[in-house]
Amino acid sequence: MGANILIVEDEEPLTTLLRYNLEAEGYEVDAVARGDDADTRLKETAPDLVVLDWMLPGLSGIELCRRLRARPQTQSLPIIMLTARGEESERVRGLATGADDYIVKPFSVPELLARVRALLRRASPERVAMVLSIGDLELDREKKRVSRSNRPVDLGPTEFRLLEFLMERPGRVFSREQLLDGVWGSDVYIDERTVDVHVGRLRKALNRGHATDPIRTVRGAGYSLDDRFGKDERVVKDDRLVKDDRLGKVG
Ligand code: CA
Repeated sequence: MGANILIVEDEEPLTTLLRYNLEAEGYEVDAVARGDDADTRLKETAPDLVVLDWMLPGLSGIELCRRLRARPQTQSLPIIMLTARGEESERVRGLATGADDYIVKPFSVPELLARVRALLRRASPERVAMVLSIGDLELDREKKRVSRSNRPVDLGPTEFRLLEFLMERPGRVFSREQLLDGVWGSDVYIDERTVDVHVGRLRKALNRGHATDPIRTVRGAGYSLDDRFGKDERVVKDDRLVKDDRLGKVG
């Protein structure tokens, strides 16, 4: 499945042009014309990248960008800002609000597509990998198999998709609503508590016989696959080594 891209742009011909070209590249494209509508939309759905216009009705692109960065769910959401202004100070301001990249209007479509590709690659190299691997967790998309510490983990199809979704975007926090949209699809009506049930099952299956939990519950925000998962263990080990070394010297 192609990455999901949200276009936030009030110039309809430009939206049409962008949508056409992005869809031709295999992306799933959604578009909104107002900044405040985009703000609402982004609380519910989690696209993989946002193309955000600077001047928008309702809420400016800069203000929206600032708000997105202030929320855990969208803190590291890749954003390309479109701006009609070329002055250096404005460019700096654009990046200072937290956009990952910006492009000055008028721009060439191939250039924008190249930026989108580059940013998606940079943001989640996991998207294109056949085998996802974080800490001692491994998920094979092709064989539909999951293992932890080289031991197979039995998962139902929903838990598998849920884990795949989280492993593709380690460290990003998703609300229940965003998980419903990303894993179950936006056209299905399911109670948000269903997400908790499946996260619970996934956790139980993954953590059997293990002390560390790769899934993080973020109070008031949602769930995330810990991107430091597996790294802490190494830190602890190193610490112990240092201590042992000191003890050795004292003795
Ligand atoms: Ca505009």
